[in-house]
Amino acid sequence: MARSQKELHPKFSRYQKWIVNHPNYLGIPFNEDKSGNPVWLAPAKSTVGAARIDWLDRQRESLSIPKDDGWRAKTALAIHPTKTKPCQVCGNEMSLEYVYPNANLVKSMIKHGFELELNMLQDFREIITLAKQERRKSFFIALGKVFKSDLSVDIPLDELFTNILETGAEKKLLGPGAMSNFPDRLDGFHSYNRCCRGSEDKGRLKANLNRYGQDRRAFENWSDGNWKAADRLMKVFNKYGLSADHIGPISLGFRHDPHFQPMTISEQATKNNRMTYSDVQKLLEHEKFEPVVSWHTKYAWDNLKHQIMDDEDAKEASSILRKNMHFILSVLGYIYANVTYGEDFLSTTILDKQLEYAYADYDFEGFDPETGNYDRMIVTRKQRKEYSNNAARYKRKAFESLENYADKDNRWYTDFLPHYRHELSEIKTLIENKSYKNAFFKVNELFETHAISFCKLPRR
Ligand SMILES: [Zn+2]
Repeated sequence: MARSQKELHPKFSRYQKWIVNHPNYLGIPFNEDKSGNPVWLAPAKSTVGAARIDWLDRQRESLSIPKDDGWRAKTALAIHPTKTKPCQVCGNEMSLEYVYPNANLVKSMIKHGFELELNMLQDFREIITLAKQERRKSFFIALGKVFKSDLSVDIPLDELFTNILETGAEKKLLGPGAMSNFPDRLDGFHSYNRCCRGSEDKGRLKANLNRYGQDRRAFENWSDGNWKAADRLMKVFNKYGLSADHIGPISLGFRHDPHFQPMTISEQATKNNRMTYSDVQKLLEHEKFEPVVSWHTKYAWDNLKHQIMDDEDAKEASSILRKNMHFILSVLGYIYANVTYGEDFLSTTILDKQLEYAYADYDFEGFDPETGNYDRMIVTRKQRKEYSNNAARYKRKAFESLENYADKDNRWYTDFLPHYRHELSEIKTLIENKSYKNAFFKVNELFETHAISFCKLPRR
């Protein structure tokens, strides 16, 4: 079966009809099929293809675009009414401009010390905006090195964008949602978007786990759960070409456990650490059987979960939970950086039980790629050098994440903590007296107090 006759996503069919009837494409040559519908494809060597090139050249002239190497791509983009199009396969809407990170950008960022996942289906401007909001210094240091320019977190966004988008397109660090393809496709762009192009998929799937096969979000967010088993299960998903998705995102304070829902790549691209109303329903259902949220976020989640009535609420709650996570990590960062025995306290009361998971391996029997469920998890406990390295790395990375928070440039740290001066000094005294149990109790109390005043939905 020819590609063009493959099942089209309904959004893409609607898009084709809309483009053919749009005034910007008035007079563009196309064949008609037996039922009189316009034929989207026309190879350059065909009569229709050649006629399309002539048509585009007239558009180029009227737009005064110079007739250089890339004139077809430039003109097709210039006349495109929205500069975005849905994917033929999955319907995912993507920009036609050069705004998505290419694999070599992701790789260079890692090489220059930014170890986090960059979503190759997320607009790089969004990624920069988030990194700026969260004041992620390591992001801007790596970015500056990759773009060979003095970039800091304090440069205004629009200035960053102009700098980066132009160089990014030039150096092929950024790419479009769909490559240009005129006259073969009537709109001048490949029908498959980046989300469903084979080569891009693979990079994307691997990106979930870093080069050690660990999901860094778990140690970065000090999350509960059997992370080792969860990491292993993610690999199983990836083997089936699926992306493993936590219903409750780790970065919002949920656990990293071996329970995922399978997602297509485009679904994950649009999800972006945001919960929907249906995700919240699923979490409430799952919570009847086992915990879904990490100890530190329990209070915030308990406060919010029954107030969420629709998608809008779920989105708002996600944003509150993300901010609450910044608060939590700032408190832990304070303990780590300012309290004698702080590191020992955090290790023995919180991290040590997480490190236990390193000393086992996990296999999954009867995995069902449709549902993401499995019949049985097989656990083999082992003492191997590799596993103690694993544990050591987990611990080191967890503390590195706190270091980033305990920074006078971190506005979460400087804005939130002064409200709780009294509570923090109590915690400090308890830890310094090695009264870890009581200190941990006080930390929990502080997270609860903060959740009560901060984690509620503004009633609409
Ligand atoms: Zn797609």
